[in-house]
Amino acid sequence: MGKQRVAVIGVGSVGSMTLWQLAKRGIEVVGFEQFGIAHDRSAVGGESRMFRTAYMEGADYVPLLKKSRELYKQLESETGQDLLNLNGGLMIGPEDSYKMKNVVKSVIDFDIGHEILDSTQATHRYPQHKFFDNEIIVLDKEAGAIRPELAVFSAAERAEALGATIHRHTEVDNIRELDDKVQVTANGQVYDFDQVIITAGPWTTKFYPQLKNHLTPRKIVMTWYPTHQLENYKPEKFPVFGRICEGISIFGVPTLEGSMVKIGSIDTFGDIEDPSLLHRDISLSELKGINGAVAKYFTELKPDPVRISVHMDGYTTDEHPVVGAVPNLNRTYIMGGYSGHGFKLAPVMGKIAADLLVDGKTDFSIDHFNPNRFSQSQILSN
Ligand SMILES: Cc1cc2nc3c(=O)[nH]c(=O)nc-3n(C[C@H](O)[C@H](O)[C@H](O)COP(=O)(O)OP(=O)(O)OC[C@H]3O[C@@H](n4cnc5c(N)ncnc54)[C@H](O)[C@@H]3O)c2cc1C
Repeated sequence: MGKQRVAVIGVGSVGSMTLWQLAKRGIEVVGFEQFGIAHDRSAVGGESRMFRTAYMEGADYVPLLKKSRELYKQLESETGQDLLNLNGGLMIGPEDSYKMKNVVKSVIDFDIGHEILDSTQATHRYPQHKFFDNEIIVLDKEAGAIRPELAVFSAAERAEALGATIHRHTEVDNIRELDDKVQVTANGQVYDFDQVIITAGPWTTKFYPQLKNHLTPRKIVMTWYPTHQLENYKPEKFPVFGRICEGISIFGVPTLEGSMVKIGSIDTFGDIEDPSLLHRDISLSELKGINGAVAKYFTELKPDPVRISVHMDGYTTDEHPVVGAVPNLNRTYIMGGYSGHGFKLAPVMGKIAADLLVDGKTDFSIDHFNPNRFSQSQILSN
């Protein structure tokens, strides 16, 4: 029997980490990416990502997040790059909101280094923010900022150094599972593999149309604001933060390149019909919400952005990803729908992909991410 051959469709956030993990295990792995590595047309661009472990989306993510952090650090040591700066994170919101309850449950149940502050204590320590009496502030000491382009680029190059092949600027048109192999067609050429994993982000439903009603690409807009007090927004003084607000919810990252501060909307800017036709123009009226939040919640930022960038991610209806074998197929797996919070998970998802493809199982609890949860009655059959 020859060496196991695996195709990874889409070398973005999760695809690059999957290639790295499979190459580490000595698998013959081939990645296909329609654009360049770490391009900014889907979910990789925008200079920074939050890494947080006190998790608004549910405490059951914490074991995955802890493993992800370990893998980011491993990738740093394998490549000599600074990818994750663990400068801490503030989770801010009304105490009675379910997201803040998830945050508190995460730090307590999983023994995460933390402090819980009231608005007076937080104002004293973080004068860049304006806090309100009904809010609690949880300092997650295991949080920080990731450099997404560098992380994807580093994982892809490390995978190649370990023997992986990547076809850049090569769009996959079709995937066809047969009894004894899977055929991938890209740029008019047909390739044979033992298994395939689809990590196509917002394009996932091109290969798995049965999920169309449950997985939708959405537009995400990043905004950077100027200040005369840039010193106060360096990583040592300004932890990353996520904040549940009235109107739009927001997040932010310390200044990394040193001339402006990224404060973004957690809420998206609408659904996208066809991810290949993402419009990257933004009008002033679309920025009203985020500019208003910057004026309301910050003391020193000018609420008119000096940099704007437009990206997208695939969102599921329950905002949890789809991870696992495609229903009714034996050799085809899918990982997508990270719903705006998947970058921090990318390394552990790469490991889970390798577990599933090589061992047929993983020790991580992923049953609630099963693609079947949306499509019991709409199973892919060809
Ligand atoms: C601006 C922004 C800010 C975010 N902030 C955070 C954050 O702070 N923290 C966090 O954890 N998450 C954050 N997220 C979410 C996170 O970035 C995404 O959930 C995650 O990156 C999704 O990864 P993915 O691999 O599914 O998709 P992608 O990274 O988009 O990768 C999919 C890849 O597949 C390729 N592809 C698609 N179709 C084909 C084809 N037919 N042939 C070949 N290649 C193909 C695409 O070109 C792309 O490179 C943010 C997302 C955005 C957009």
